[in-house]
Amino acid sequence: MALARLIYVSRMTEECDMESLQRILTVSRRNNLAKGITGVLFYDPKFFLQCLEGPVEVVNELYANILRDGRHTRVTLLEYHDTDRRLFGNWAMAFLRLNDLTPEMMAQAGCSGRFDPFTLGSEEARGFLIAIVGQRQAQLESQKEK
Ligand code: FAD
Repeated sequence: MALARLIYVSRMTEECDMESLQRILTVSRRNNLAKGITGVLFYDPKFFLQCLEGPVEVVNELYANILRDGRHTRVTLLEYHDTDRRLFGNWAMAFLRLNDLTPEMMAQAGCSGRFDPFTLGSEEARGFLIAIVGQRQAQLESQKEK
C-alpha cells in the first residue's frame, strides 16, 4: 500500500483553548489508531508542528480536514512525500509540548535559542521531530526500567 508522509506547521488560534487542545488529542488518538495514521504533534500555546504518515488517501483526507479546522491558521506545508517506511510507526500520534523539552534536548535536536517552526525547512523539521520523539522514547524506556 502506498504511504505518504506530510509535515506542516500552523499557528494556534484563540479558539484553541485547553479544552479544545485536549479534544484534538483525544480525537486524534481514536481516529489515527483506527485509520492507520502514525506521527507526531509538537505544540506550544502559539504553534503546531505535525507529521502525519499513513495510506496516501487517508493522509490526504485527514489533511483536508485539518486545513479547515478553525483551531489553527496559517497552515504551511513543509513536506509531502511518498514513502515506503514510517518514521513514527510506534506512535498513533506522539504528543509533545515545547515545555516538555529542556534546553539541552532542544540543542541536541539541533535548535538552540528562540524556536520558530515557521523558519524550518523540510529536512530540518523532519530531523527535529525524529530527534525529539527519539528522546521522548528513551525517557519513557528509562522510566520503565526504574
Ligand atoms: P468528530 O468526532 O466529528 O469531532 C471531534 C470533536 O472535535 C468534536 O467534539 C467537535 O466538536 C470537535 N471539532 C471537530 N472539528 C472542529 C473544528 N473545526 N473546530 C472546533 N472543534 C472541532 N484529527 C485526527 O483525526 N487526527 C489527527 O492527527 C489530527 N491532528 C490535528 C492537528 C491539529 C493541529 C488540529 C487543529 C486538528 C487535528 N485533528 C486531527 C482534528 C481534525 O481537524 C478534525 O477535527 C478531526 O479529524 C475530525 O474527526 P471526527 O470527524 O472523528 O471528529
